[in-house]
Amino acid sequence: MLEAFVSKDVSIPAGKWGTVGDCDAPYWLLEDMMKNIAANHKDIDYILISGDLESHADWDYSKEGHMAKVQNITDVMKKFLPGKPAYFAIGNHEGVPIDNFGPHFTPAKFHMDWLYGKMVDEWQDWVPADQKTQVIYNGCYMKQLFPGLRLVSLNNAMGDSNNFYLFINQTDPDGTMTWFLEQLEDAERNGDKVHVVAHIPGGGGEALEGWAINYYNAVNRFEDTIVAQFFGHTHSEEYNVVYEDPENAQSRPTGIVYSAPSLTTYSEFNPAYRIYTIDGNYPGSSFRVIDFEEYFLNLTVANANPDSPTKWETLYSSAKTEYGLTEISASEWNNLIGRMLNDDTLFNKYRKNKYRRSDMSCGQQCKLDELCSIRQAHHSDALCSDLQKIANEKGYKLKMKNDLLSNKMKSVTNVVVKSKAEAYDLIQKTVLPSQDKCKI
Ligand SMILES: [Zn+2]
Repeated sequence: MLEAFVSKDVSIPAGKWGTVGDCDAPYWLLEDMMKNIAANHKDIDYILISGDLESHADWDYSKEGHMAKVQNITDVMKKFLPGKPAYFAIGNHEGVPIDNFGPHFTPAKFHMDWLYGKMVDEWQDWVPADQKTQVIYNGCYMKQLFPGLRLVSLNNAMGDSNNFYLFINQTDPDGTMTWFLEQLEDAERNGDKVHVVAHIPGGGGEALEGWAINYYNAVNRFEDTIVAQFFGHTHSEEYNVVYEDPENAQSRPTGIVYSAPSLTTYSEFNPAYRIYTIDGNYPGSSFRVIDFEEYFLNLTVANANPDSPTKWETLYSSAKTEYGLTEISASEWNNLIGRMLNDDTLFNKYRKNKYRRSDMSCGQQCKLDELCSIRQAHHSDALCSDLQKIANEKGYKLKMKNDLLSNKMKSVTNVVVKSKAEAYDLIQKTVLPSQDKCKI
């Protein structure tokens, strides 16, 4: 049942199609987007959903509500795009409480069978039967999409810094990273390529460095096998470059992590979706991303005419053309960082696309922070040392990701905590910068 009410404290009511701000998307916006995709992109082969099916009203989460959402979103996919498979990754918002997914070293009441079991039931048309046990165990699966191409759905909640169970023991929860490496090794042995669909990019504040660096190293080790990585979580469209040396951005770029745009407006975005073109499907396909295009809804326009049909617009029809890339490759995306550094017009285009809005101003300091963030597919300030030098010359300091959580978390990687008291102590020392502010 949908409950709707208007609080008397609301000073600016949301528009019919949603509002750019701390608001989530209305349900009819999802249906409208799906209708638009069905009408205009009949040639898509499959859908990737990188997680977070829930709203941001995380105080109101319940297991029942989350299970209903899994079912509902699955039904929406089938209704609007019948016959097109949809492959999901698990987002941090799928946890109840948010971000919390109990691995099997925790008591059974914290395990995730209720969620993963529901997913298996709902996704049985799309997830192979032999992967059912894996999904129920740790929310991961592998699907052979075409001869020569495998899709690996990796549950990044097992490396989520807000997954408090990981403060008890973050050593490869439920063997998830081991499972991932085995998938890659098996694909390599069989000469298959791999696409990864996952949720939290490794450089963000919600990624544990222990998890992020293992993933990063895997991308490097299996550089010839992992040919695409599709993430989400950020709501903004972003990308991160992976380098051969995890501490040196002058080393060879080996991979790209794409963070796709979100439907939700929360908090600064116009709704959008992306369509990738992949090389295939023929014998010897590289299965690499050849290009991608993106579509968005201008909410100012849509809400000004709430009774008229929406008009989803092309944000850009070719990422290659949009950014002047000679090809879609890690080295070209890396070169773009350098080009944006010296070209404000190009950088402003990236910012506009990131938010799907043209009014997001970003000065020189903000620009250096933004470019640094692209470099950080895991938490290393060394990857931005040249940008920090430029910032120093201009008299400001880059927002380093190591400042709060990540550097401190490095020191607790693989720590096993044996008692509640020890866990509290660890949290005080690592996550909470000031014990005065937040005593447990
Ligand atoms: Zn998320």
